[in-house]
Order: sequence, then structure tokens, then C-alpha cells
Amino acid sequence: MNLSVKPLQNCGKCGLCLTACPVYKVLKEEQASPRARLQLIKAFENNTLEATPLLKELISKCLMCGSCAATCPSGINHYEKFMNMRQQMVADLGETPVIKSLIFLLSKESRIRRGAGMAKLTQKLAEKLTPDWLANKYCMGNIPLKQFPRLNSIPFRKRVAQIIPPRGEKKGRIVYFTGCATNYMYSDTGISTVGILTHLGYEVIIPQDQTCCAIPLMFHGASTRAAKNMTININALGKHECDNIIVDCTTCGAALKDEYPALIKKIIEKNSTQPPSNQSWEALEMLSKKIAEKTTDILSFIAVHKQKLVFDKNTPKLAHVAYHAPCHSRNSFNTLPIIQNLLKELPFIDYTPTPDEAECCGGGGTFFYEHPKIAKRIMDKKIYQVKNIAAEYWLTDCPVCRINLAGNLEPLKPGTPGTPGKSSRIQVLHPITPIYNALKKGH
Ligand code: SF4
Ligand code: SF4
Repeated sequence: MNLSVKPLQNCGKCGLCLTACPVYKVLKEEQASPRARLQLIKAFENNTLEATPLLKELISKCLMCGSCAATCPSGINHYEKFMNMRQQMVADLGETPVIKSLIFLLSKESRIRRGAGMAKLTQKLAEKLTPDWLANKYCMGNIPLKQFPRLNSIPFRKRVAQIIPPRGEKKGRIVYFTGCATNYMYSDTGISTVGILTHLGYEVIIPQDQTCCAIPLMFHGASTRAAKNMTININALGKHECDNIIVDCTTCGAALKDEYPALIKKIIEKNSTQPPSNQSWEALEMLSKKIAEKTTDILSFIAVHKQKLVFDKNTPKLAHVAYHAPCHSRNSFNTLPIIQNLLKELPFIDYTPTPDEAECCGGGGTFFYEHPKIAKRIMDKKIYQVKNIAAEYWLTDCPVCRINLAGNLEPLKPGTPGTPGKSSRIQVLHPITPIYNALKKGH
């Protein structure tokens, strides 16, 4: 992502950002474009526009995908402008009850755990008691509730030890930041990540005191609560000496690498918030910079160490494998070429790129919930492309994208190309899972 901060006046209104904006591409309305959003912010900053529900809605019709900033020839940091404006809108107009509840839930780990437990119970009851035709009618945003992933019966971090020894000779130590999705929803991602790291000879530390990375809190203007989560994570991760801090989701990675140092810098400059612990912001800033330097995503880590992975030569080849690049992977971690090369090189994956694999899926944190019709239109374009290549697997390294992709897929009809004679859905997985499954067991 282009992090140089240029003033809004630098916008030459060239319109290049429109060609990159997934929301503009489906709505084709100037008011939904990044260029227009910047002009609205400028008018608001110049006091010629007031905070109104309409202005808040126009600002919120954005996936925070970063594609506009990555395209802009004038070096404007849309991301930071939009983030600040979102905070301002929440400060002036408040939040909806649902988003308020989400913020309340995500700002304390014990609440997330209880919330996930209750949701799991509800999910089990609904599966037993609700007929399919009814279950398919109820949606969260653009996703039928029935197509939401099953929550973990036991949180991933409770299933595994805090310190997991390497297989064979110890090569180093990794701290693993699992994020909420792996902990409460996608334990397969956690098992595969730990399996690969220990296969490579790393001791894996999974701090039990980590919590939500706080990106959803930042997106919704809850900066004080975000600062609390950030402090918990900085202390949970920073106390362990390690070679690398690994994330399996680049949104969490962006929090550790970019957002924490930036938020602390802002707090120090504005002298706005007391540190939530007995440390100074300066001490936390030093620790966050150390964490940022060590943070990397699991796929980039594998790309560096792939020669050391020992694969089972009899692993069956996965046919027609498509990839969806999450926005943070493209615009923050810049991992798209790394992952494309990795997928091309793996002998057990028949990687078939779709023309739009680098385009946002419309998930955007809570965007799919807040703007379901727009999210569905963005998603439908992607589904058309994967069906066009008769994909059987769709890989993505972001849990929200994974929920969104899997939640919008219909079961394939019998006889669909690539699935001869059977009815099946395209399987949506984190790329780490087929890589882990192909490892030579017992090695
Ligand atoms: S690409 Fe940059 S300069 Fe061009 S219209 Fe968009 S924000 Fe303005
Ligand atoms: S961040 Fe993404 S969705 Fe938002 S204006 Fe920029 S390109 Fe459009």
C-alpha cells in the first residue's frame, strides 16, 4: 500500500482509482467512487458539509480494500483518509446497534469466547430443528445462515499446547498469532499452520493471552477499544523471544505490521489516550516496532522455506484450483506474486488462475453485512469466473473472504464440468491446508 500521505488537494481527478474500485465497478455511480469520497471528505474538513446519515452511508460504502491508494498516481493515502473519516462519522453520529454489539463483543476475549459458544449452540439447534427451505431464507448480509461455516466445538487455542515442540532438530522458534477466525471457526487453518512450522523444525508458541487484532474496531471508529486490544496483543507477543511472528491472515498481519505502530504514533502525537496498562506509549511503541519487523504471513514464510518441505510423492493432484487474493495480501503485504509462484510450483496443485483473482470479493470485514446487495453483485462476478474454469477448489488466505466465497456458492449441478457425474460444491480452503495435507507424514 502506498503510505506516503499527500493532501487531498493533490487529487487531479484523473479517475484511475475508479478503474480499481470494486464498489464503483458494480454501481457505476460517481458518488460511490474513491474520487468522490475524497471530495466529500475535503468538503467536510472545510466545513462546507455537515455530518449526516447520508454522508456516513456514502463513506461506509467502501471495502477499505486499498486498491484506490495502490492505483493513485498522486500518492494519496485513501486508506488513512477513509479510516479517519469513519472515526469522525461514528464520533458525530454513533453506530448501529448491531455494529455496537460487534464492537462490544470484540473488545474483550472472554466476551468473544462466550459469544462464540452461544453461536455454536444456536447453530447446532438450528441445524437440527430448521428445515432446509427455511434455513436458506435467513441471511447474515448476503450469506444464508445455513452456509456459514460451523464454529469450532473447542477454540483452537484451547485444543493445542501453548508451546509445541518441533519435529526433529530445533531450527528456531515461531510465535503464532492465530486471530479470532482460526481460534473460533477455522481450526483446520491452525492445525495446518502448526503442522508445517513444526515439520520445518520450529518450536511454535501460541500465546493464550492474545485477542482480536482490533482491525474491525478501527474500521468502526472504536479507537479507544482498539488501543486496548492492541496493548494486550503487543504484550502477549512481545514477551516471547522468537525468529518470526506468523499470521495466517494478512488482515491480522496488517494490524501487527502497519496499524499498531501507526495508531501508537498518532496517540503520542495527539497525547489523546492514557495507555491501558502501566506502560508508557513510548515503551509500547518500541515493542510494536519489534513485532512489526518480525511479522510475516505463513505463505510468504513457506515460499522462503519451501525447499525444506518434504512432500509425499503419492499425494493426488488437486484439479482446477483457483485462488482469490485478499485485499490485505495484495495491497498491504504484497504477497500476490509470491503466492502465485508458490501455487505454480507445488506439484500436487493444478493452479488455474481466473482473470479476476486479484479483485476484492465484497466481504470487506462487515461490508457484506452492511451492504449485502453490493457485496452480492461483486461476489457474483467472481463466482462466474471460477465456474468458468470448472474450479473444484478455491483457495484464499483470509477468513472473511473464505466465509464470503463459500457462503455464496450454490451446490454444483450434476454433470458440471470438472465434477463428472456428481453433485458437489467447490471447496473453499486456506492454501495452507492442501500444502499441509501433502507433507510426508511422520517426517
Ligand atoms: S487516482 Fe488519485 S488523483 Fe486520480 S482521481 Fe483517484 S484519488 Fe484522484
Ligand atoms: S478502498 Fe476499495 S472500495 Fe474503498 S474506495 Fe478504495 S477501491 Fe473503492
